Amino acid sequence: MNKQILIVEDENDCAELLSYHLQKESYQTVIARNGEEAIDAVQCHAPDAILLDVMMPELNGWEVCRILRESTKGKSLPIIMLSALSDEEARVKGLSLGADDYVSKPYSMQELLLKVRKHIDRQEAIKLLRTKGREQETSLRYLLHEIRNSMTVIGGFSSLALKKENPRTYLKPIQTAAALAESLLNDAALLSRLEEAGGSLPAEVIDLGATAREAADLFHQVAKKRRIAFVVMESAGPSPVRANKTAARQVLVNVLSNAVKYSREGGRVWIYFHQRDDLASVSIRDEGNGIGPDDLPRIFEKFYRAPGSERVKGEGLGLYIVKLLTGAMGGTITVKSVPGAGSTFTVSFMKVDAVALHSEQDVA
Ligand code: ADP
Repeated sequence: MNKQILIVEDENDCAELLSYHLQKESYQTVIARNGEEAIDAVQCHAPDAILLDVMMPELNGWEVCRILRESTKGKSLPIIMLSALSDEEARVKGLSLGADDYVSKPYSMQELLLKVRKHIDRQEAIKLLRTKGREQETSLRYLLHEIRNSMTVIGGFSSLALKKENPRTYLKPIQTAAALAESLLNDAALLSRLEEAGGSLPAEVIDLGATAREAADLFHQVAKKRRIAFVVMESAGPSPVRANKTAARQVLVNVLSNAVKYSREGGRVWIYFHQRDDLASVSIRDEGNGIGPDDLPRIFEKFYRAPGSERVKGEGLGLYIVKLLTGAMGGTITVKSVPGAGSTFTVSFMKVDAVALHSEQDVA
């Protein structure tokens, strides 16, 4: 997989020229035209290095560097600052904010490419060492890390909003980070509850259809932004099942979040309901790249991400949590996927009347 470089540059010609030279060296490139786009791109594209122009209106390169360094995603990302400010003070400021390198404009393209290569190779070696440590990490600790990352983004952008004349610009990333933090907190709360109570969750009667529609409502905004159409097929009638409402909602949120994340722009996500025998189910189908047969049995493993998913923001924990939660509620999750055509995840629970028939106890 080619390494990806994020170019943060408000001057079109400079950005295009850099992109051209980097692509000639087989790098993939993403261009951000301002500081806010840069922070967004680091969260969404997980680049391998960033070329960061200092002089930009609103959020300048120094501020971007500071925010990135305080976030989990940007903490160890190689940052090479580019600036026409050649004096020592500017260079020292960049490096003291945590940049890895500083290049003065006009720069020699060859020198810049060498620096990019050097930092990417170094990063690769560090990543290899870290993979080992990460396998030992508990899901809860990892989720807490991620929540802290969102809080840093919220804190960073709120301080900026307080200082700037046009604070509205900063509300969007604050809103996105707050929604993510809320979802992660739900994951964390449910996980710790499972651990404390030895794998059980209090059960109640919930309407699966209504819970799925509620979860889907959270994604309309982000889906619209990426021109993804949500097609919610009405269920034939109420589908009462015995489950835990918060956990069932979180299961559906995690699956829907993947359907949107792994969809192509302009794709569709279908949500449909079906009942057979004792089971009530909701299926979520997307038209994304699908999952290969070798990866399919592994996607519910802790921290597993199929090759090619690196460009999509994720930690490989969502489906692991989904599997734990559905299991604790006596439900099931299944997946079918056709590489290149899309995936369908189906979440099923026993219908309430069926539960009574089988004289089931609480799922606890
Ligand atoms: P992540 O945070 O990586 O999305 P998940 O545990 O939710 O973690 O998913 C594990 C992996 O399963 C993903 O990294 C991706 O490779 C694959 N995956 C999950 N859902 C989909 C989907 N709808 N389409 C394609 N791949 C998917």
